[in-house]
Amino acid sequence: MAAAHEIETRPWAEQLADDDGSYRAQLAYLFERSPFYRGKLAAAGVGSAGDAGGLARVPDLPLTDKEELRRTRTPRNPFGAHLCAERSELVRVYSTSGTTGTPSYIPLTAGDLDNWVTGSARSYGTSGVAAGERIVSTYNAGPFAAGAALDAFDRLGLCHIPVGTGNTERLVRAIELLEPEAAVLTPSYAAHLVEWTAERGFDLRGSSVVRVLVAGEPGGGEAGFRAKLEAGWGARVTEAMGVGDIGVSLWGECEHQEGMHLGARGFVHAELIDPDTGGAIPFDDGASGELVLTHLHHRAAPLLRFRTRDHVEARTSPCPCGRTGPRVRCIGRTDDMLLVRGVNVFPSAVREVVGEFAPRVSGNVLVRPRAPGPKQDPPLPVSVELARGASVDSELADAIRDRLREALAFQAEVKLVPWGSLTRSEYKSRLVER
Ligand SMILES: [Zn+2]
Repeated sequence: MAAAHEIETRPWAEQLADDDGSYRAQLAYLFERSPFYRGKLAAAGVGSAGDAGGLARVPDLPLTDKEELRRTRTPRNPFGAHLCAERSELVRVYSTSGTTGTPSYIPLTAGDLDNWVTGSARSYGTSGVAAGERIVSTYNAGPFAAGAALDAFDRLGLCHIPVGTGNTERLVRAIELLEPEAAVLTPSYAAHLVEWTAERGFDLRGSSVVRVLVAGEPGGGEAGFRAKLEAGWGARVTEAMGVGDIGVSLWGECEHQEGMHLGARGFVHAELIDPDTGGAIPFDDGASGELVLTHLHHRAAPLLRFRTRDHVEARTSPCPCGRTGPRVRCIGRTDDMLLVRGVNVFPSAVREVVGEFAPRVSGNVLVRPRAPGPKQDPPLPVSVELARGASVDSELADAIRDRLREALAFQAEVKLVPWGSLTRSEYKSRLVER
């Protein structure tokens, strides 16, 4: 396994001390350059960088919401009032997919872009891929920040083979002929490929791929789902995660698979909050909450306490790979979280529990809430897809329902559906249908 870089193994306390200095400088920069944060912090009673103090006091500052940034965009400033750099300083502008309307823009200076690629290279490098190896990628980056993640592969000294999304034939041919050691794709696509190749008699387990790097959606860290991918690919599966507005790939998992290390250490500061109250949650081993990130060295459009909407579980125990600092495992999107009689339910957690019933089930699930919004009255309808050739069996449905109640403390109404009836995705899976 490739040795962890010196920066990645330095004592976390040293890193935090450095980050404290970076944070204070970042705050001074925001007060000087950011109309958005000057106004927002003044409204919170913080009139200067000195008033705000250091990293230890970051939980006292207000959170930043994506919607809030969106509201400050104007035709004259399409980036929003958090833009701190001159247009002439920008070297790259990415767009987000704009799930709620028009896309938002993510501007970067040359330094920002370089930091993004450095953090990304560390995050992907954590998986164990090494210089001289080949990696096949399946992202259609286009206008999206994922393009900068692809730059990380060059930085790592890998031979990058982009094949894009939506052409499984081309992907399988590239694996067959170019013999990459690694593949990077969404967990949904990785699962789809296991089925696709099995149906066509292609031996994915016998292929050259020994590392599958999954990113783009939660799932790669779910034990059952991961086991299924590893068995299907005959490869080690590790995950990586980024947040478009903050950095393309910030976290990456090592071969010990104990949560994703912060590859972007030194560039961002991570916190946890309760998504309902916004209150800070200590970043302790086993704690869970919404991930909140603060830029430490950003120039174009730095963000302070940005709500990522990713719900994560924290790990702080030492990792055998030697990398220090916090690790996270993403449980799901805060937006996908349902509240069944006061209990938080993540569709990805439902999928993980249902996965325990393999090989009787395919592993595909669809949660079908009856009411709009997060609050649901029990029982919550869950469609569970059977394995190929399996027939509907009411005892199995009851066993899944009981296991969901035991593991996740909510009442489900489990409906078994035939193999192939839930949609497969070459990109990201939808686990909720309203
Ligand atoms: Zn590790």
